[in-house]
Amino acid sequence: MELTNRELEMAERIRNIKQLSGSHSPGILSILKQVPEIALKVDACYLSNPYATDIFLSYFSRELIETGRIRDVVEFYPSQNRVIAGYLAKAVDASPETVFVSNGATEAIQAILQRRVPRKLLINIPTFSPYYEFAPKQTKVIYNRLNKESEFKLDSDRYIDMIRKEKPDAIVLINPNNPDGGFLSEEVILRVLEASKSVDTVILDESFVDFATLGSQPESPSMSGLCKKYRNLVLIKSLSKDFGVAGLRAGYAIMAPERVDDLLSNGFLWNVSGIAEYFFQLHLREDFKADYRQARRRYVNEVRSLHSSLRAIPQLKPYPTMANFVLTEITDGTRAADLEARLLVTHGVYVRNCSDKIGLEGEFIRIGARTSEENELVINAIRRSFNG
Ligand SMILES: *Cc1c(COP(=O)(O)O)cnc(C)c1O
Repeated sequence: MELTNRELEMAERIRNIKQLSGSHSPGILSILKQVPEIALKVDACYLSNPYATDIFLSYFSRELIETGRIRDVVEFYPSQNRVIAGYLAKAVDASPETVFVSNGATEAIQAILQRRVPRKLLINIPTFSPYYEFAPKQTKVIYNRLNKESEFKLDSDRYIDMIRKEKPDAIVLINPNNPDGGFLSEEVILRVLEASKSVDTVILDESFVDFATLGSQPESPSMSGLCKKYRNLVLIKSLSKDFGVAGLRAGYAIMAPERVDDLLSNGFLWNVSGIAEYFFQLHLREDFKADYRQARRRYVNEVRSLHSSLRAIPQLKPYPTMANFVLTEITDGTRAADLEARLLVTHGVYVRNCSDKIGLEGEFIRIGARTSEENELVINAIRRSFNG
């Protein structure tokens, strides 16, 4: 792929913005501010269910804006962590003393890594970077590499051997994993938990589990119930992507009560905003849940059809996914950075170039699913990018 001079010049400016944002992609808004010539059509870098955002916004305007209740939400303090945990627990089938409410799941990840001060942390790569970036400085991070040759599947025998040999005091499983979308069955997770009884903390991050579907099962295959049995299990859940509300900063973690006590004795009293609290309250309500279930089903179908459209493009190799994005290898020698630049500059489509992901060898982009119209635009833009 030969970039034009215009594409090259703008790609250079985009690269500079990226350098400033570290290992997380810069938000599209900050790119547009610096490179206003881009006519953005679809942001497929960010991973979020747009149908669910519509639902939140309709409740929000009907109940808070049109009624004027927004004033109370803004003017007064939100509830304290324990109070929100009290009612959220009902929605997530956990007991209240096991729920830690967080300002996005990232806050829970940071808090757990830093409070438990792991000596040694075992992480599968490629991964979501805060798991190694926010580990305490003295922590030794060891990596188990997931290979593209086996479609990023966890080899559980090898993994369990590694746990026995290395004796980490914390391990991280993300299910489905980001950035590859790989899924661990309940059987594999149980095997790992049984083999990890001497591991102090087993983190299971289910931020994308709502996008996973097993056969005709209508609900997401969450394994949060296992926290009751395994005292070392810490379940992390972001609500940013499945509910399409990253800007609200809403997440939670489920863990043994003494771990929640330890975190709360160190702060986190009013760590979520009033608007996030309103969103947590919606979780309990049957009307909201019914609307969300529909949005979830519709969106999961969009992900499946995005995957098959990508499979039909000869220069691409999309990997299997149970999340809401498709990790895609470029197989014709085109660099991921060049495809990213052409898509953004010439077609207004923002995808995630994965060159900075540790443990990924080759040229990869990650494409987040959007609405059906937007996905079609993305697919056409990719086809045209390869055809000159
Ligand atoms: C995005 C993400 C999170 C954090 O999301 P928040 O917006 O902080 O709730 C956590 N884990 C994984 C695997 C993610 O991809």
